[in-house]
Amino acid sequence: MSDNNSTPVTATDFIRNIIREDLASGKHQQIVTRFPPEPNGHLHIGHAKSIHLNFGVAKEFSGKCFMRFDDTNPVKEDEQYVEGILKDVRWLGYDWGKSQTHASDYFEQLYEFAEELIQKGKAYVESLNAEEIREFRGSLTEAGKNSPYRERSVEENLALFRKMREGEYEDGSLVLRAKIDMSSPNINLRDPVLYRIRKVSHQRTADKWCIYPLYDFTHGLSDSLEGVTHSLCTLEFEDHRPLYNWILAEVSAPCLPRQIEFSRLNLRYSVLSKRRLIQLVEEGHVEGWDDPRMLTLSGLRRRGYPASAVRLFCERIGISKSANNIEMNVLEDCAREELDKTAPRAMAVLKPLKVVITNYPENQTEEFEPARHPKNPEMGTRKVPFSREIYIDQDDFREDPPPKYFRLSPGKEVRLRYAYVIRCDEVIYENDKVVELRCTYDKATRSGAKAEGRKVKGIIHWVSTQHAVTTEIRLYDRLFSAPNPGRNDPEGNFINDLNPESVEIISDCKAEPELSTANPEDVFQFERVGYFCVDAKDSRPDALVFNRTVTLRDTWAKLEQEHSGQN
Ligand code: ATP
Ligand code: MG
Repeated sequence: MSDNNSTPVTATDFIRNIIREDLASGKHQQIVTRFPPEPNGHLHIGHAKSIHLNFGVAKEFSGKCFMRFDDTNPVKEDEQYVEGILKDVRWLGYDWGKSQTHASDYFEQLYEFAEELIQKGKAYVESLNAEEIREFRGSLTEAGKNSPYRERSVEENLALFRKMREGEYEDGSLVLRAKIDMSSPNINLRDPVLYRIRKVSHQRTADKWCIYPLYDFTHGLSDSLEGVTHSLCTLEFEDHRPLYNWILAEVSAPCLPRQIEFSRLNLRYSVLSKRRLIQLVEEGHVEGWDDPRMLTLSGLRRRGYPASAVRLFCERIGISKSANNIEMNVLEDCAREELDKTAPRAMAVLKPLKVVITNYPENQTEEFEPARHPKNPEMGTRKVPFSREIYIDQDDFREDPPPKYFRLSPGKEVRLRYAYVIRCDEVIYENDKVVELRCTYDKATRSGAKAEGRKVKGIIHWVSTQHAVTTEIRLYDRLFSAPNPGRNDPEGNFINDLNPESVEIISDCKAEPELSTANPEDVFQFERVGYFCVDAKDSRPDALVFNRTVTLRDTWAKLEQEHSGQN
């Protein structure tokens, strides 16, 4: 993608085109959409695509978007997810006003629709068990067979269905099925199950119901009850659309929403399915749903991604029907772009190496006052103290420098950012390890001074030892080391593809004192190093913990290039 311009452009895609036509033709006066998560897990970046589309379209066309929980399966769902989902959608910047609903709000109406189908001879109570139903269903190449119970009378069906509701039958003994066509090439139309008996308490309706409607029956009717005009969903529901339309046509539905499918988001080096995310959490491969390596919205937030970066990403990937497998750096670049604009700068040394400036007075401290942001003067300045002893990064010193090495090496000079030019005079060893450098500074090279002195090529960052705050830094990387986790395993086991180096913890980093006032979730650009965010869970004012959000540049692209060069 070459368009790096982040000024908002009006998104155009086939769905928005349909909506524009429907408004222009007068088919609809107001656009109504919905975002319908099942509360059986937390939201991930794939859901963000759907949220951005559904809420985005509603906003753009002055319509309305329902925040609807699709809570028809009490066995797998949990209210604890509801709060998390609401928080994540709000964080992304969307507001549903009063339009928060649950499919379970409609259980009574759905039941009446089911009776209506029975009355019309369009649904029947099935006595075959689950396995028999499967056998009778046929396959892609083989037509299904009618159930011996298919021709039950309306009266018998009604009586049975009412007794199902009253709890007279055991789980699995009866189901309600639509009567459509057992030889349809579309298996979804081979008398799909609409209701089943589940004698379990529901998180919202408690023990009021012991029969629960299935997704296909519930979804379209909930859409209709809410006056949804465009029901936007992912492509795996394409084959369900004939059933969606059949149900709406056969009952007295208040309106006929149009289902339109788009392709789901896939991201290389990640897994995006709740089932897999749950496995990662439950088996302890990550610390939780909000582990900063997880591409859940809570994980991205904790990692330091601003919501605007996630929105920008959704904008960039767009909406279409074509299969996609987006490069991770598209997402990472969005974070870089947004954070470059907003993140205050700071200096932090990840692997400290002590430097003593031998000609600097012992008890002297001076302060430099660089801008917090090079392009946003309104963000003000910060105070960076300088003294005789400082830390630089071990990586910024080489005893035996390769050609064109512009950082520090014996006898060579480098500029300390915002401060002076220093020269390395002596290297102190302990057990063959470099533990300290002795340097001298040149007073005439003070940064910002009129005669800044001679030019040196390298500029490195540093912090004053006596003023530094010690922090823990967690260097996060991609959770998977394979572009398509599970692809090369016969069983699709993606666990083997976890990146063993997805996190490196460094416990005694040294940062400039300004950072001691940082608040949870604040993100900084550590100059020359990357973007880092104060961990919202583990950081304490006296024991700061930073998560690396993203590196300054895409290091994986380089790795992949080297890799493909080898093959
Ligand atoms: P998963 O497959 O991750 O378990 P799901 O589709 O079962 O997700 P739901 O809670 O049913 O999860 O999803 C709510 C909405 O988000 C649905 O409309 C679904 O189509 C959409 N959605 C889920 N995953 C993606 C994705 N990867 N890309 C785009 N939309 C998605
Ligand atoms: Mg689903």
